[in-house]
Amino acid sequence: MEEMKCLMIFTDGSKMDGRVGCTFVVFYNKTELDYRKFRLNDSSTVFMAEVIAIQQAVQYVKANDLGQVNIISDSRSALMALSAVEEARDIINNIKEDIKEYKGKIALTWIRAHMGNFGNERADQLAEEATLISDETISFVPSRNQIRNEGNKIIKDLWQNRWNDSKNARWNKNLTDKVNVDRLYGDFYINQILTAHGVFREHQARFFKKMSLCSCGQETGSVLHVIKECEIWTSYRKNWPSGWQLMSLKDSINNAVIRISLRELLHELLIKELDLL
Ligand SMILES: [Zn+2]
Repeated sequence: MEEMKCLMIFTDGSKMDGRVGCTFVVFYNKTELDYRKFRLNDSSTVFMAEVIAIQQAVQYVKANDLGQVNIISDSRSALMALSAVEEARDIINNIKEDIKEYKGKIALTWIRAHMGNFGNERADQLAEEATLISDETISFVPSRNQIRNEGNKIIKDLWQNRWNDSKNARWNKNLTDKVNVDRLYGDFYINQILTAHGVFREHQARFFKKMSLCSCGQETGSVLHVIKECEIWTSYRKNWPSGWQLMSLKDSINNAVIRISLRELLHELLIKELDLL
C-alpha cells in the first residue's frame, strides 16, 4: 500500500463515551493533505459512522475532482455492504451509484486496523477527536412522530430507519448545510493554503526533514513565496487584478480570478512536488 502512486483517503468511525464520530484523511504517500471530521448522533452505530466516513470521502473526491483515488477503510462490514450485489439500504446504494458515476476512479480497499499503518492510525485519532465536536454535524434523528408511530421497531432497527429518514429533506438539508460551510474553505487545493500546507516545501521540511528550498532555488518554499513571489508560477499571476501584491492571503483567495488560478497553480504544484516524495 505504501508504494501506491495516487491519493489515498483513510476513513474511520469511532464510538467513545457514548458519542459517535467519523473522519476521512487525505494522503499522498505519507504527506497528509487534508481531512474532515464529523460528529454523528449519539445513537448512531459504529457501522453507520464507518459508512458515513466513506460516503463523505466519496463526495469530497467528486467535488474536488481528485482523479484516481483509493479509499481505505478498516471496516470489513462497511466494505462488504458496498461490494454486495444485492443491497436494500439507500445509503449504501447511493454511495455505489456515486462511485460508478465518478469520472475518475475510486477504489475501495480494506486495511487491518491497529497494525501501525500511518494513515489508519491518523484516521483512528481523528475519528476519536470527531466524537468530541460539540455540535452534531450530521444528524439522522427520527422525528418524535416517527418514534411514536414506529414504537420499539425504530429502536430495534434504529440505523435502518435513520437511513430511510435520509430520503426526507432534513437529511439533505443537514448535509447541504455542511457541504456549503465546507465549500467556503473546503476546496481541496485552496485548503493547502489555508490549513493543510502539505504540498509546500517549508511544511514538508518541518515534518519530513526534506529540503525546504523552493525548486526555483531562490527562497524557502513557503506558502507566501510560492503564491506571490516564485518565478516558476509567474504565468499564473498574469491576469490577477492590479494591487494583488498588497492583498492578504484571505482576500486573494476570495477574489474569484485569483482563486481560479491558485487552484490551477496548486494542482500543478501538487503533481510536481508529490512525484518527488
Ligand atoms: Zn520558488
